[in-house]
Amino acid sequence: MLQTVPAFDRIGEENAFAVLARATELAHQGRDIINLGIGQPDFRTPEHIVEAAVKALRDGQHGYTPANGILPAREAVVRRTLTTTGVEVSPDNVMILPGGKPTMYAAIVMFGEPGAEILYPDPGFPIYRSMIEYTGATPVPVPIREGNDFAFSAEETLALITPKTRLLILNSPANPTGGVTPREEIAKLAKGLEKHPQVAILSDEIYDVMTYDGEEATSLLTFTEIRDRLIVLNGWSKTWAMTGWRLGWSIWPDALYDKVRKLAVNCWSCVNAPAQYAGIAAIDGPQDAVEKMMVAFDSRRKIVVEGLNGLDGVTCLTPRGAFYAFANIKNTGWKAKKLASALLEGPGVALIGGPDFGVLGEGYVRVSYANSEENILRAIDRIGKFLAK
Ligand code: PLP
Repeated sequence: MLQTVPAFDRIGEENAFAVLARATELAHQGRDIINLGIGQPDFRTPEHIVEAAVKALRDGQHGYTPANGILPAREAVVRRTLTTTGVEVSPDNVMILPGGKPTMYAAIVMFGEPGAEILYPDPGFPIYRSMIEYTGATPVPVPIREGNDFAFSAEETLALITPKTRLLILNSPANPTGGVTPREEIAKLAKGLEKHPQVAILSDEIYDVMTYDGEEATSLLTFTEIRDRLIVLNGWSKTWAMTGWRLGWSIWPDALYDKVRKLAVNCWSCVNAPAQYAGIAAIDGPQDAVEKMMVAFDSRRKIVVEGLNGLDGVTCLTPRGAFYAFANIKNTGWKAKKLASALLEGPGVALIGGPDFGVLGEGYVRVSYANSEENILRAIDRIGKFLAK
């Protein structure tokens, strides 16, 4: 038997991928599966972005690039950050990486070790906890409560900090809840963090512009008091429907920048060159496709929420960001993962059980509305009939 180091046995999973695989398998068997499980926009990458990548390849942009990304891509991120947050960062603090996840990995391995504590949202993106456990650090869940509209609480978060805390992970707008933490709450947190200068912060802002009803998400970048220990994760995957391109960016403080650059040199060398040119086109080009996508998400959001609230035993808050509804199923009598599995194998609706996002996810299911209105309505009808049985 090959014996790997114990850390590898602590690596977890993102169950959304397993559900996608099972849904695809069932569909191949001829079953009519409606997929509300997947966390990716069901839109095509806008054509001008695809064209920019094709052009880059035709122009011979197919070699290695600097490990931190080509300067024009980093400068595009600087422009984009100024537009969305009003904060001017330097291209020397911007890293281009193969997706959003590598920033998570880099930040967590930088601060995680046995004896260290890392705070992360629960329910939250499952990779946070998985990678914390990989490093041997102690994962400390920050509860994200329905009663708080799925925002994090500054007070509760600050109360969990100990002298061992090395990293605090935040995510707003959030997966899986669609929660958006209000600016006052984030300001309170930033203020409170002044008392804990040993704590680095990883703010996952990958859904930053995916908000509704005119609400704007607050970037942690706007709080100068924590800038010297703040890592901001972002990327192209969601906003421009580019999940398969593997393209992300992050903003790092001076003290950490060379460390992450060296990690990139060791792990992936650089992000593929044409994707970086596509990324520039995405930021600098017309945003009408993004706006159209958000109009479609908004309309589906209303349908999902109304539909779910009409089901026996189900209640669902209106998500304020991203493209997920996190429905409370406590009164259906089902355990969340059992229900998710029964809905997939039975009526053929794929969604994700809340416990796949943390222990506090029990009693909830995540419904991604990255699917057509027609399919959403059909799915809700199927769930309703199933629950009524
Ligand atoms: N952060 C959050 C909160 C996400 O939901 C996701 C993807 O689902 C990611 C990061 C990872 O994004 P990427 O696919 O660009 O690695």
